[in-house]
Amino acid sequence: MQDPNHEDISEILYTADQIALRVDEMGQQITEDYYDRAFEEGIVMISILRGGAIFMADLARAVKLPVEMDYMAVSSYGSGAHTSGVVRILKDLSTTIEGRHVIIAEDIIDTGLTLKYLLKNLNSRKPASLSIATMLKKQVPNQAEVPCDYVGFECPNEFIVGYGLDYAERYRNLPYIGILKSEVYQ
Ligand code: 5GP
Repeated sequence: MQDPNHEDISEILYTADQIALRVDEMGQQITEDYYDRAFEEGIVMISILRGGAIFMADLARAVKLPVEMDYMAVSSYGSGAHTSGVVRILKDLSTTIEGRHVIIAEDIIDTGLTLKYLLKNLNSRKPASLSIATMLKKQVPNQAEVPCDYVGFECPNEFIVGYGLDYAERYRNLPYIGILKSEVYQ
């Protein structure tokens, strides 16, 4: 499917309706999984700015339990479009997560290196539990092993935009998830 208003998008992968349905399912699953423990230690959902913010806003509202929200911003050093796995924290959490149930709400897992670093960093703060909810998981070879508890969609190895994901700060507000034409970034 294509967007007649956006010639930069080669294909719409998931429409706004499909996303809403899937996020709702993920929220229901989280509600079931955390029902017994959420009230005592509380859930803290963490979004990695800026791509994950829209997903977390929707996911948090789909969870029918008390959820606190916090944000981190990171930059990864790398050559061009490729992540190196060396991550610098630009904005840290405002919340202490020790003893809390933490869910990272991530936009997309590509190499997995950013999350691998974040898992190590957040685990050292001794949360009661730490899990990952990602809207998209790219099907790429040699992806780092990151335990994803909740995955929205497995997506093709293309450059994806929309629903929070950008290219040069554009396209984040597209309501759907789509593939950006390669001539836009090449
Ligand atoms: P990773 O460390 O898994 O390689 O990459 C993590 C981050 O790179 C994601 O959170 C996202 O910000 C960015 N990223 C990876 N793949 C894509 C993509 O296809 N489109 C966009 N817009 N960002 C991506």
